[in-house]
Amino acid sequence: MNDIPNLYGSMVFNDPVMRLRLPKDIYKALKKTIAEGRHLELDVANVVANAMKNWAVEKGATHFTHWFQPMTGVTAEKHDSFIAPVGDDQIIMEFSGKELVRGEPDASSFPSGGLRATFEARGYTAWDPTSYAFIKDGSLCIPTAFCSYSGEALDKKTPLLRSMDALNRQALRILRLFGNKSVKRVITTVGPEQEYFLIDKEMYLKRPDLVYCGRTLFGARPPKGQELDDHYFGAIKARVSSFMKELDEELWKLGILAKTRHNEVAPAQHELAPIFDTTNIAADHNQLTMELMKRIADKHGLACLLHEKPFAGINGSGKHNNWSLSTDTGANLLEPGETPFDNAQFLLFLVAVIQAVDEYQDLLRVSVASAGNDHRLGANEAPPAIVSIFVGEELNDILDALEAGSDYHGKERIQMEIGATVLPHFPKDTTDRNRTSPFAFTGNKFEYRMLGSAFSISGPNFILNTAVADVLCQFADQLEHSSNFMQDLGALIKKTIKEHKRIIFNGNGYDDAWVKEAERRGLSNLKTTPEAMPCYLSKKNVDALTRHQVLTEQEIHSRYEIFLENYCKTINIEALAMIDIVNQEIIPSVFGYQNELAKLISRKKSLGKDDFPTQVEEVLLKKLSNLSVVLVQRLETLSEQTIAVRSIEDSLESAKAYRDDVFAAMSELRVTVDELEMIVSKKHWTLPTYAEILYSVN
Ligand code: ADP
Ligand code: MG
Repeated sequence: MNDIPNLYGSMVFNDPVMRLRLPKDIYKALKKTIAEGRHLELDVANVVANAMKNWAVEKGATHFTHWFQPMTGVTAEKHDSFIAPVGDDQIIMEFSGKELVRGEPDASSFPSGGLRATFEARGYTAWDPTSYAFIKDGSLCIPTAFCSYSGEALDKKTPLLRSMDALNRQALRILRLFGNKSVKRVITTVGPEQEYFLIDKEMYLKRPDLVYCGRTLFGARPPKGQELDDHYFGAIKARVSSFMKELDEELWKLGILAKTRHNEVAPAQHELAPIFDTTNIAADHNQLTMELMKRIADKHGLACLLHEKPFAGINGSGKHNNWSLSTDTGANLLEPGETPFDNAQFLLFLVAVIQAVDEYQDLLRVSVASAGNDHRLGANEAPPAIVSIFVGEELNDILDALEAGSDYHGKERIQMEIGATVLPHFPKDTTDRNRTSPFAFTGNKFEYRMLGSAFSISGPNFILNTAVADVLCQFADQLEHSSNFMQDLGALIKKTIKEHKRIIFNGNGYDDAWVKEAERRGLSNLKTTPEAMPCYLSKKNVDALTRHQVLTEQEIHSRYEIFLENYCKTINIEALAMIDIVNQEIIPSVFGYQNELAKLISRKKSLGKDDFPTQVEEVLLKKLSNLSVVLVQRLETLSEQTIAVRSIEDSLESAKAYRDDVFAAMSELRVTVDELEMIVSKKHWTLPTYAEILYSVN
């Protein structure tokens, strides 16, 4: 495939295609709708739909679908063909404006967290014209938001779009204060780095835990893990390379700017990073990327694992959410400027993010909570569960100087007076710096690193956008009434640093000392999902989300219920899978080996005890036999716990019981199984081992 520029976006109904295929007035009307986020008139929609259909049919499409993101975290689609009968046993290919802008999928089987009890069961999908339509698998896909009939958000996209509006409103108020009248829109941009594992499909299919749960529920440590760091950025194996090549090409066809690909720290772990884009588009693209990763892996005889922690003891997978604010005129608001005045503006946005992360640290933690991510956060890898910000030494000194009203003695002496300060450009993040920070400033953007690899980026971003919008709103409220802008601005920045610098931490986030220090600073350390979730409902957080019209109170409650339900269901599935695997594979393996040993012992004994000593076999058999007793006991305990937890009505109490009782029983059972794995012969052990799985792709 040589002609990449031509390939790029070839399956997308993007701007050049629209310009070419739409009448000028229709094109203009559509662009205006997109720019202003308004509804599309039906006559315009009809023309757009027809042009889209013609384009799609030429590309071989036969169907169309509204493509949306319900609360399941994966995308949903229901395909309708373009065909319409016209009599005489003839058909034509048809697609109307009505079908383009609005769909009515049956909403009743998607999670609604109780919203359906109070609202109508039906839902509808509405076109998000800011995200281009595209062709996937012979279907024209229309990116849409998914709501209940009374307008309650039932998906991940709606609050994200609302939060982008909120941030736009507040950021514009700030820019106006700085005399900027030309900027019409402020958008948030995101570049999500996606980590994943690739293993051989055959190994995958032999591990029911991977098939049902996406992670291994058992597995003793392999002799060689990641300790030599020889996989990180290592040469890419041929099979992986051909997978990556096809993936890149398919992504490019969909207008997704796949840019970087490399091997990650753990064996069989890799990463893909696209070039950043407007957040809702980045979110759509990341969903597509994950979907294509799975599909293309399958074509190559591989399985792609997106779970946060597929293998215990081996690094898990995250998603680094690089986030910034940019204007429609192309300025990055988190880039230090060239003039003192620009820098005052930069500093205000910077301290706004610092305050937002401090004030809403609990809500940010909620936004990355899931059963899968609980295995990572705080588990001595990836970022800890404590939210803090890394700003780097240089910026830290500058903030200190600003707070103290003293001069900054960096590379050059800078007088720290707002409006008189030319800031140095901060070195951009290099890969190894501050890998432990959950939220790191990297020169002209923040890298939010707590997201799990399987996440939709919508949740964490709508929370982040809302938090920042809220602080910008507080700032604008104060400064809009100022009679001496520069002076009040300086005082505000100083005050903000003073009040919120506790969230800044530039040290090693994995260090135990940090946990104590964070506690001393009063930062929250919400280790697990059930601990974090109640923060969703605190007055401060509900107020912020409703004040900026990102979620209504009912929507917040529904999401709270959905997350807890998802947490419980995930652990329940894992527990049931574990019970099945122990019964169907582990116990037969262990008994089979014991039987072989017992036979050997009795045969030796029949040959004569003195000539054929049997102590060694007997010691091993005894060990196996004792472990089998523990195994069956622990299996029984787990079964009992999975039944006991069902009687709990309250979702939070249920989640706690899943964590404290069911998950605890699973962990104990696992220890025994892993011990057995290390002594049972390979011939009898039917499950592929960690070593076999992790080194399965050659
Ligand atoms: P690293 O691995 O060192 O963090 P990468 O180059 O892999 O760096 O990823 C950086 C990501 O940040 C890329 O997706 C890049 O497009 C994105 N990025 C760069 N500038 C911005 C910005 N202004 N807003 C959002 N994301 C950005
Ligand atoms: Mg990164």
